[in-house]
Amino acid sequence: MPASPYDRVILGDLVTPEAVIPGGYIAVRGESIAALGQGTPPPSAELIDLSGKLILPGLVDGHMHTSSSTGWPGIEGASRSAAAGGVTTCVDMPYDVPHPVTDAAILREKIGWVNRTSHVDMALYATIRKDGNIGDIPGLAEAGACSFKLSTYEYDAVRFPRIDHPTMLAAFREIARTGLMCAIHNEDQELVEKLTASAKAAGRTDPIMHARTRPPLAESMADLEIFEMAVETSCHVHIAHSSIARGFDLATAFRDLEGAKTSAEACIQYLCMTEEDLVRLQGFGKCNPPFRSAEEVARMWQRLLAGKIAYISTDHAPWPRARKEYTGDIFTLGAGLTGLQSFAPLIYTLLAERGLPPTLMARYCAERPARFHGLNPKKGAIRIGADADLCVLETGDFVFDEASIEDREDARWSPYHGRAMQARVAATFLRGACIWDGARVLAAPGTGRFVPRQHRESYLGKD
Ligand SMILES: [Zn+2]
Repeated sequence: MPASPYDRVILGDLVTPEAVIPGGYIAVRGESIAALGQGTPPPSAELIDLSGKLILPGLVDGHMHTSSSTGWPGIEGASRSAAAGGVTTCVDMPYDVPHPVTDAAILREKIGWVNRTSHVDMALYATIRKDGNIGDIPGLAEAGACSFKLSTYEYDAVRFPRIDHPTMLAAFREIARTGLMCAIHNEDQELVEKLTASAKAAGRTDPIMHARTRPPLAESMADLEIFEMAVETSCHVHIAHSSIARGFDLATAFRDLEGAKTSAEACIQYLCMTEEDLVRLQGFGKCNPPFRSAEEVARMWQRLLAGKIAYISTDHAPWPRARKEYTGDIFTLGAGLTGLQSFAPLIYTLLAERGLPPTLMARYCAERPARFHGLNPKKGAIRIGADADLCVLETGDFVFDEASIEDREDARWSPYHGRAMQARVAATFLRGACIWDGARVLAAPGTGRFVPRQHRESYLGKD
């Protein structure tokens, strides 16, 4: 018998953005998908029978923060949690301590950390300094950054600065020349600062005040500013997270009426969490923008089903537990949630609870984030020639337990602790190799690799 051209064949129900293909197979050669189909699989050196389970493309989390509290050593734990969560490509934000990714030398240093310590593949965002080092933008794109990120709101003048309008305009012009997307943290500084100062003066530092001091208007005002600058500069400007349906309406309107390159992303928490959850979870429910009303969550789902949402991300930010524990002042706590390991089970569950198919998960949590960040055709899809990155789901009745999080001890907390889930991640494959077997992470630090942007074409989600 001749040697098989395939190293392994994986059997299961394949989930693509178009359809669920029952009784399917994926044949892997080296690190890539070499064949796929339905029915009798071709012979191969190894057969992995996952019949009855759903095989999705490995998820691409288009927005996360491995290193905002721990620095680059945080890449190892966060990527381990990604492996256990079926996320095979992380797109990491640039707001790291002590060095945000603001020039090519820093980017190369971070790439070294990814290649030495990551458990999954990782693409990297870049940013600029508050003083506006526009001249470093071409070099960052050349060194492989997938996208840029700037902010209208300042958390810290070095780590996470506000970029003023003239500097942002100049940055957009330069980024437009690279063809890369520029995501924006979208909150109005003056409004938030004034409302926060008033709340503190009135002695109101309880959890709900986090939402009251960052109202929807703080977002939509910032959205308008950045989209006006998108029209002016032809830069692809992307809302890094919209917690309100209006953000998607504005992105669509500027695209349709002005021909601007505008888009907006939802994080999974804005598709399920409400202000009641902020009150219940206190600091562990604090993120920016904040959770909104149940009515707003319903409107978010309408926008998703109308095709107005670019993709769904986690904004994973594994703050040390101590930075999230509420002791009477919500304003002093870190903003951001963990969400990588719960991402796949939760989005599957949210879809299933609404009678929606997992094909939407393949589209909005794998294919589209890969395309927005220029990582296709290598990442984001079950396709011949693509990396054999797979997220395997077992459906059933499960409960998410924060103790199961595969990260450093003080990052094992989750706003979804105790939530009923209708699926769990039974296996994760990265470039053809099993890196999570449903119980243990099999990847080692350095199994993951840096993924440079593959091309300069911009994608707005139209097809
Ligand atoms: Zn973020």
